[in-house]
Parts: sequence; C-alpha cells; structure tokens
Amino acid sequence: MERTILIRIGEIFLKGNNRNYFVSTLKNNIVESLECVECKLVSSNNRLFIVGYSESDEQEIISSLTRVFGIYSVSPAIKMPTDLEKIAETCSEVFPSTGKFRVTVNRADKKIPLKSMDIARDIGAVMLRKAKGGLTVDLFNFDFEVNVDIRENGYSYIFYKKILCSGGLPVGCGGNGMLLLSGGIDSPVAAYLMAKRGVKIYAVHYHSFPFTSEMAKEKVIKLARIVSRYCGPIELAVVPFTEIQYAIKGNCPIEYMITIMRRIMMRIAERLAVEKKCGAIITGESLGQVASQTMESINVTNSVVSLPVFRPLIGSDKTEIIDIAKKIDTFETSILPYEDCCTVFLPKNPVIKPSIKAAEEMETALDIEKLVTDAINNTETIVCDYKDL
Ligand code: ATP
Ligand code: MG
Repeated sequence: MERTILIRIGEIFLKGNNRNYFVSTLKNNIVESLECVECKLVSSNNRLFIVGYSESDEQEIISSLTRVFGIYSVSPAIKMPTDLEKIAETCSEVFPSTGKFRVTVNRADKKIPLKSMDIARDIGAVMLRKAKGGLTVDLFNFDFEVNVDIRENGYSYIFYKKILCSGGLPVGCGGNGMLLLSGGIDSPVAAYLMAKRGVKIYAVHYHSFPFTSEMAKEKVIKLARIVSRYCGPIELAVVPFTEIQYAIKGNCPIEYMITIMRRIMMRIAERLAVEKKCGAIITGESLGQVASQTMESINVTNSVVSLPVFRPLIGSDKTEIIDIAKKIDTFETSILPYEDCCTVFLPKNPVIKPSIKAAEEMETALDIEKLVTDAINNTETIVCDYKDL
C-alpha cells in the first residue's frame, strides 16, 4: 500500500499529435513547482502520479499542483496490488464510518472476471458491515464517493475526493508574451489569464525615478513574484522613463501627454518583445476604465506596433478583475499606495478621443528613436520568482 497523488489533465487531451509536447511541458512545469518538496513525478499508462513523499507534505504538494496550468483535478489516493478482498478492507479502514456513501469502480483490467457494478457492491457490503450501522448507501445523494480504479498493470487506486485545479494549458505551450506590468490591480491579473492559456510571461515596467520611488519598483517586483507561482519565473525589464516624460512634457501639448507616453511604452515593449521572441504584447486594459482606455485611445496607442496586443481584461468589470486579483493573492499588494509613472505629470484634462494624425504630428518634436534606444540601453533586468518572496 502506497500513497500517491493522481493527476488528471484537462484540455490537453484535445491536442492530437501535439499531445506529447503538451504533456512533456506539463511534466517539466510540475517538477519545477515541486522543487522544494521531496517527491517524484511518474507516468504510467498515459497517467501522471506523484509518489515518494511523506504524509506531512501532502497538503503542500496538492496546493502547488492546484496552481499548475494544464492540470484539471488531483486526488490523493492509495495504490495497492489488485486484491479485491484487501481493497474492500482498506476502504473500510481509511474512509469515514458514518454518513451516506456510494462506491464507483472503474475496471480497466478485464482479466478480473467480476463486473464493475458487482465489485462495487461487494466493497460496499464490507464497508457497511465494518461500520456497524454508521453508514448507508445512497447512489444519488451521497456525502462521499469511494472510487476504485483497477488498472491493467495489476495495481488499483483508491480515492474519495477530486480537488479541482486551475485548468488551462501548460505554460510555455502557447508561446511567449511581453506584459506591460504596472503596480496596479489589472496587469497582474492579465498575466495570470494569459499564462492560463499557456503563454510564458516576460514583463516590462516603466519606472520614473525619482518621481516614482524605489518602493514602487519593489512593489512591482513583488507582484511579479506572486504571479510567478502560476506563470513560472518572470524576467522583468525595468525601463527608466523619466527622460521620456520630460521630453514629452517639454515638447508636446499637455492633453496628449498620456497618449504619447503610452505610444512610447508600446514601442519599447515591442522592441523588448522581439528580443525575447514574444509573439504578442499583453496589457491590463479594460474598455472605458479611464481616458486612456477608450476605443479611440486604444486605437492610437495600438497603431505604433505591429505585434498583436492581447488585452484579456478588455470586457471585464473592475469588480470581476478584483475577484481574480484576490484569488491569486495580488490584490493586497496592488492596492499599496505607491505612485505609478502614469500619475506623474498627469494632465487635468487628458484627451479622451485622440487621433493618430495629431499624435504623429506632435511626435515630430521628439527624437523617438533616441529616446527609445537610450531607455532600452539603461534597462535593468530582474528575474522574479515566488521562491524569493
Ligand atoms: P493597472 O491596474 O494594470 O495599473 P490601470 O487600471 O491602472 O491598470 P492604466 O494605468 O491606464 O490602467 O494602465 C493600463 C495598462 O497599461 C496597464 O494594465 C499596464 O498593462 C500598462 N501600464 C500602465 N502603467 C505602466 C507602467 N508603469 N509600466 C508598465 N506598464 C504599465
Ligand atoms: Mg495603473
């Protein structure tokens, strides 16, 4: 008899010929997420299991697995040789002896002459007898379900709960994405949602020292570390933005300050994206949330880049975004009151419906190429890993 954790993979099943690639990426991600615990990942007959761990680590392993994208559910289980009498005895020892229950048997091993239903009935009978009246069978309205999975290799797995995990696709299978990461609530959530679809996240943060403090930068690093529990370690580029803001303020109309700033942010993000072989830029924008997120504003900032820009939150309300931020544990950090570079030199009346033509004309007063290149040359790169939290 051996403890094991059964891992069920979700959508990966749909991937036909790519299945091997998806599964091997998932296996790497699982091993990485369990680096700090003594245990082993094994696969047998197209299934994944964690073995070789001590009982006291079980909870920690399960909670790590719930954050690995590509896993649909897990079950702590007991693995034992297929001996139906011993299985029935074990079930009555390890499961509750009160309440309503049912037994479900899955018999992959057709060498066993009994049908699944008959085996389930026999196991149920032993459990009822040993419970001395505490248990009743109820096939529809049960408190717990005993599952017995009889495999072809002579072993059976017994488990009684399925713990739902994050679903999605293994991080790395969906290509690389360059996230614009601010210290706010939205962009860490955008990272989580794109990682859920298998995108490996790289990030860029624009920092306006000394107008934004060292604490503001630390906050962004912390956010990247928190989401890295789901995404894997994130390489974060911290780009100095103060010179650019001075240049815009000194040479362009103030109501276009944010529009032009955001166009330069996008240009820098695209350069970094190409360097890191990212196929898309990701932002935390949500339509209509602020002046820079109207359809016209988005069009004007979008027009300076040719990579696709993913905005997974475009149709979400703030309350929905906050719910996810709380679930992934970024909310409390996001609401710490440090300033963002977007709040420096903030115009009283930013343009709500900017035009591409006007922005382009104003930008002729700037040496954009030099501003972008200088900023990139002075970028600091930090690898953000939750293990450093
Ligand atoms: P967030 O909560 O993500 O900060 P927000 O509601 O504050 O979003 P904005 O400040 O307008 O909205 O930013 C919109 C998006 O632009 C952000 O989600 C992020 O992707 C990007 N962004 C804003 N400020 C920065 C910054 N300093 N560095 C990198 N990206 C940024
Ligand atoms: Mg913000």
